[in-house]
Order: sequence, then structure tokens, then C-alpha cells
Amino acid sequence: MTYYNLKPGDMIGIVGGGQLGKMMAQSAQKMGFKVAILDPDKQCPAQFVAHEFINAAFSDESALNQLGEISKVVTYEFENIDSKQLETLTNKYNIPQGSQTVALLQDRLTEKQTLQSANVNIVPFLELKHRQDLEEVIETIGFPFIIKTRFGGYDGKGQSVIKSHDDLNEAIDMVENTTCVVEKYLNLNKEVSITATRDIYGKTVYFPLQENEHRNQILYKTVVPARLNLEEQAINEVEKIISKIHFVGTFTVEFFVTEDEGLYVNEIAPRPHNSGHYSIEACEYSQFDTHIMAVAGWHLPEQINLLKPAIMMNLLGQDMEHLQNDFSDHPDWHVHIYGKTENKVNRKMGHITKLSSDIDKDEAIFNQIFEGRK
Ligand code: ADP
Ligand code: MG
Repeated sequence: MTYYNLKPGDMIGIVGGGQLGKMMAQSAQKMGFKVAILDPDKQCPAQFVAHEFINAAFSDESALNQLGEISKVVTYEFENIDSKQLETLTNKYNIPQGSQTVALLQDRLTEKQTLQSANVNIVPFLELKHRQDLEEVIETIGFPFIIKTRFGGYDGKGQSVIKSHDDLNEAIDMVENTTCVVEKYLNLNKEVSITATRDIYGKTVYFPLQENEHRNQILYKTVVPARLNLEEQAINEVEKIISKIHFVGTFTVEFFVTEDEGLYVNEIAPRPHNSGHYSIEACEYSQFDTHIMAVAGWHLPEQINLLKPAIMMNLLGQDMEHLQNDFSDHPDWHVHIYGKTENKVNRKMGHITKLSSDIDKDEAIFNQIFEGRK
């Protein structure tokens, strides 16, 4: 790694112009950097806060080169970039995150194999190439299991829970279309995640342990600090992962927690993450601030302090109509709307963060308010 540090006015290139790209851009601009966004969607949220917008496919080589040419450093908001293309770009431009991490983590199989080799606790899994492999799955993993496509899944897309022989057709359909992994479907008590940022000098800082609730496999709510005493153990697991994977910038490790407080690593996102959004208001630095500082070659603070406990609620397409009239009556909700053009069911349209002196009480209130959404 060659050391460098960006100065105000320098351009940061971001592959991807969704909400994560938008919030990264907002942090970058606060620090005086310019931002160039590449995204195939003309109406993507981040283009409205960018100095330069390249409207092209993520696989468009000349567009990616154009982004590299105009930027002092290039980063990305999501991991589904072609890792070969990213590798070629890495040889020409300053991409401190490299391509290896994306290559390993965009494939659920290599992700799990890497976690296994790092000796972290994960849920038993098997690769599923052919429908015949399902016999082995039933024998060794058993029902219920969850089948996930190796590539491209997010927010529960590309997944199916198989509870009994009756659901097997769903698994067969998936495996006949694409290559998959299967893992035991756990009876979860809770889910937690930890967001961290690593600078180019090798220092890592941690955000507080985040307690996450998913509904329909989509993040519904995050509470910080997590009401579980597992932070030290979680950081310990993340440190094992860091010894195997090269990180620069912000990343998040998701965990499952079982009834007996067993902690299993679920997956890793090598970028800012939905469960870290509360940090914009609740921490001294947001996950986007530290991401930009890291890729800009700046040093990171000694530690990230939580200023106040917080609850973050996602606003999905179906919540918007129901809730948007209430925004004006709740100055205590920090409302973030990403600016997506179409309100679709289960699409993340925004989020609300509330800093709270009584998490349990506010949680109950939010649950009630959001109940009408389904
Ligand atoms: P995504 O890329 O969509 O976030 P995940 O693997 O994190 O994929 O799955 C999304 C959610 O589905 C998890 O956060 C969890 O709530 C549920 N889930 C996934 N795998 C399992 C499992 N093996 N056991 C129980 N719940 C699971
Ligand atoms: Mg996940």
C-alpha cells in the first residue's frame, strides 16, 4: 500500500449511486471533497448530490476508466461489481479496497470458506450444484434449511426457507437455475452486527454492537447499544476475519444469536451497511464519515463514541404512504429519504433514527406506528 492523503477539492469516485453512495457523497462533501458517481440509473439517489455523474452500466469499461481518470481515489457502495474488472482497474487507479475482498465476499460460497479458514463460528453449510445434492443436504443438515444463491442476493432476495419435503420444489427450482449454498435454518433469538472501519495504515475502529430485527429477511429495526453482552466476543470474531481479508474503509459483519447465546457469523458487507445508519446522528463520526476518511488516506479517530442510544427504523415502499404525513409532527425522528423515484413494496426508501433515553419505550411506540405497514 502506498500512502497518500486527499486534500479538499480532490475528487472521490464512487461506483454505485444508491442510498449508500448518496450518504458517502454527503460525508465526502462535508470534508471538502468532490464526488463522481457511476450508476446505470439516470434517477439514482446519489446523482443529485454529485459533482460528476457518469450514467453507465457497472460493467462499462470505458465508463469505469473515465471514473478512474477523474478521481484521486475510487470506492464502491456495493460488492456486486465484476471482480475481474475491478482487478484491472486496481492496477491503473487508486482503489485502496482492492479487488480480492469483493471477489471473496460477493460469492456466498467463498465467503463461507474464508470464514471457515479464519476459524470463526458459522452455521453448517453445503454447496448445492445439482438437485441430487439435496439428498446429502437432507441427510447432513436436515430440515429446516435455507437455500441462498451464491451470487447477487440482498435483502432476502435469492433465498428460500425449506421447512419440509413439501417445499423441496422451491429448492429444486433454485438449484436448476443457478448455483447455491444451503445452511441450517436456525431458530434465532436475535441478530447483531458490528460495523468497523479500517484505515490504510492498518488501524481498525469499531462502532458499538448493533441489535437488528429482520422481518421477511429485510432489516426492520436497529437498536444501539445492543441489549446483549456479546460485543467483546463479536469484535474477537471480526479480528479473526481481518487477519484473512484485506479491508480498507467501512465494513460490517452480521451475526446470528441463538437462544443459548451462541454467536454465528452470518455474512460480511465490505461497505457501509444499513445497520450502521444510526451512526449519522448517534455517534461522533458516522460510518460514512469514517469510510471517506479511510479511503481518503486520513487517519481515523482513536475510538468511535456513541453519543446517545438510538433506534433506527427502515422506511420501505409500503411504509411511505402510511407514514410520510407524520414526519412533520415528529421533530425527534431524524428522517432520511433517499430520493428513489418509485415506491416499491419492500424497497428501502429511507429510514428514521431516534435518539432515545428510554429505548424499550420508544421501541414499543415505533412497533405500534409501523404495524399498519403490512
Ligand atoms: P442478505 O444478503 O439478503 O442480507 P442474509 O444471509 O443476511 O442475506 O439473510 C437475510 C436474513 O434472513 C438474515 O438477516 C436472517 O434474518 C435470515 N436468515 C438468513 N439465513 C438464516 C439462517 N441460516 N437461519 C435463520 N435465519 C436466517
Ligand atoms: Mg444480510
